[in-house]
Amino acid sequence: MEHRFGMTKLNIKCPICKSGNLIFMFNIHSIPYFGEVMESTLLCEKCKFKDVDISLLENKEPRRYILEVKSEEDLFIKVAKSKEGIIKIPEIGIEIYSTIYSQGFITNVEGILERIQTALIDIKALEGINKEKIDEILKKIERMREGKERFTLIIEDKTGNSAIFSSKAKVEKLS
Ligand SMILES: [Zn+2]
Repeated sequence: MEHRFGMTKLNIKCPICKSGNLIFMFNIHSIPYFGEVMESTLLCEKCKFKDVDISLLENKEPRRYILEVKSEEDLFIKVAKSKEGIIKIPEIGIEIYSTIYSQGFITNVEGILERIQTALIDIKALEGINKEKIDEILKKIERMREGKERFTLIIEDKTGNSAIFSSKAKVEKLS
């Protein structure tokens, strides 16, 4: 994967600590057969504030990507999710909606499972949560990560900035 990278200090104060200046960084990944994806990050020079978003530089349209994950090999398929992207895995009843706290990222299918696992472990620690149900889902995700359980990964994005980079993915227009 080819990279182009740049960074610049902005004359804008951090929205959180209001004292540090923001630093803007971009990283352009070019993905064979699909085009370029830009990862842009705003970072405060003083506190831990960080905001990441993803945008496709070509072929941008509101879309739904549907990928049937059938083998271990499919776990390596690259995925880009913008702040507006919504992730769904019907087999485990998981739907992750975008909020103002959402971050964009580029990862692969396994990376998404890993993020869901981490989030579920955090949720499990909360009070009044059905821990058995969460454990059941975590076990299922573990099998999915080992390529032992088939599942469907759906990503929807009304801004068109999210994608599954594989010809195996079915693409639908979002209305
Ligand atoms: Zn700050």
